Amino acid sequence: MAEVLIKNGILVTAEGERPADIQLSGGLISAIGPDLSPPAGAELLDAGGLLVMPGAVDAHTHLDLSVGPAHVSDGWLAGAVAAAFGGNTSVIEHPGFGPEGCPLDYQLRQYRAQAGEAAIDYGLHGVFQYWDPRLQAELAPLVAAGYSSFKAYLTYDGRLNDEGLLAALKALGAAGGLMTVHAENHAIVSHLAAELGLSAPGRASSHPGSRPDYAEALAIESAVALARAAGDAPLYIVHLSTAAGLEKLRAARRAGQRVWAETCPQYLLLTDDLYRGDFEEALKYVMAPPLRRPEDVEALWEGLLDGSISTVATDHCSFSWREKKERAGGNVFRCPGGIPGVETRLPLLYSEGVLRRGMSRSRFVELVSSAPARLFGLKNKGDLKVGHEADILVFDPNMKKRVRAAGLHQAVDYTPFENFELRGWPKTVFLRGRKIVDGERFTGEPGFGRFIARQPFSRQN
Ligand SMILES: [Zn+2]
Repeated sequence: MAEVLIKNGILVTAEGERPADIQLSGGLISAIGPDLSPPAGAELLDAGGLLVMPGAVDAHTHLDLSVGPAHVSDGWLAGAVAAAFGGNTSVIEHPGFGPEGCPLDYQLRQYRAQAGEAAIDYGLHGVFQYWDPRLQAELAPLVAAGYSSFKAYLTYDGRLNDEGLLAALKALGAAGGLMTVHAENHAIVSHLAAELGLSAPGRASSHPGSRPDYAEALAIESAVALARAAGDAPLYIVHLSTAAGLEKLRAARRAGQRVWAETCPQYLLLTDDLYRGDFEEALKYVMAPPLRRPEDVEALWEGLLDGSISTVATDHCSFSWREKKERAGGNVFRCPGGIPGVETRLPLLYSEGVLRRGMSRSRFVELVSSAPARLFGLKNKGDLKVGHEADILVFDPNMKKRVRAAGLHQAVDYTPFENFELRGWPKTVFLRGRKIVDGERFTGEPGFGRFIARQPFSRQN
């Protein structure tokens, strides 16, 4: 593979920043230092004072997902290209549910086959959709094969009950895996959804009305307690969305428990007033958990800045607006949930976090790349070190662009961030030393993405 020398950049890692050159050879970072001279034949890139950071890792995507008859717009081909333009060199995909009673590797095998066309590297989380003691024997080989995290839902038909979650936490922890949890209490959500489904299905605000903050807080509190009973099994809360949930997380972390949380740009930048206007417009924002109140947004920013929240991922799920409207047919509870976001995570977090709220650039890199790489066992990714994979993002902190669905590469007919004026955009992206994004041009290739066999969960986290 060709050699590349990136000159005059400001290297930003989770530890700090410094001006330096960085050299890429054979797909790896081969040298870092001041005034490196280019080897013969190397491609020279003058970063001209732009930021050079490790390629971003989105630890929560649904690039390819069907729920019943509804299918996302992207698929691996468009989804991975959109992710690359968003500065990502890796995603970790959460597969959907498989057939009832299927073995744990059912979806993993299916997703591996489909992801063969991906243009960036990808890992896969496993998913528990029921618990049975017989599953225990499947875990160690799967973790050894690189599936070192799994997901459990506390709501939906494929949810685990308390007994199931405790047993799964214990078995997965023992096998060296990290459990990720969608934390909403099912009894509360299903009860309120049934009531509002009868009384006000045509009001978009019935959607957040059926998924209150206390349903999230209760689910986090119980997941944390079950993890504790399971011998302090490591636990990761996906898409944390409320101040009430954050308080439960903080209490557990203060008590020394091994629990981490991610939040998503939508919970940091959008609020639930979007459910109160036009019904069809509001369907764009139907997702679970729903958008929250301004107080929750403020609390989540505090949680990011004080270190309580460890990562920012997207939960990218590109059901089209057209499909949302058609399937809802006037009933918000029939609308497929999810929003696209894999391409806009970095500019949103940079503009709002770094430029408006005083987040350091190192913390930014930690949240979008280093922490997800470390927690999910992406060896030699998420940092700029000699010997690491040459996953490099050259980020222009001054580039201003207005977000338009038509100007993005996501294969979906809307973006929830339409018209956001953002400053700070990815400019050039290298995946294992190969340039895959060059300004407005995609220079990678379908199938260049590799499956990432992730390391077991490390106690060092
Ligand atoms: Zn998700």
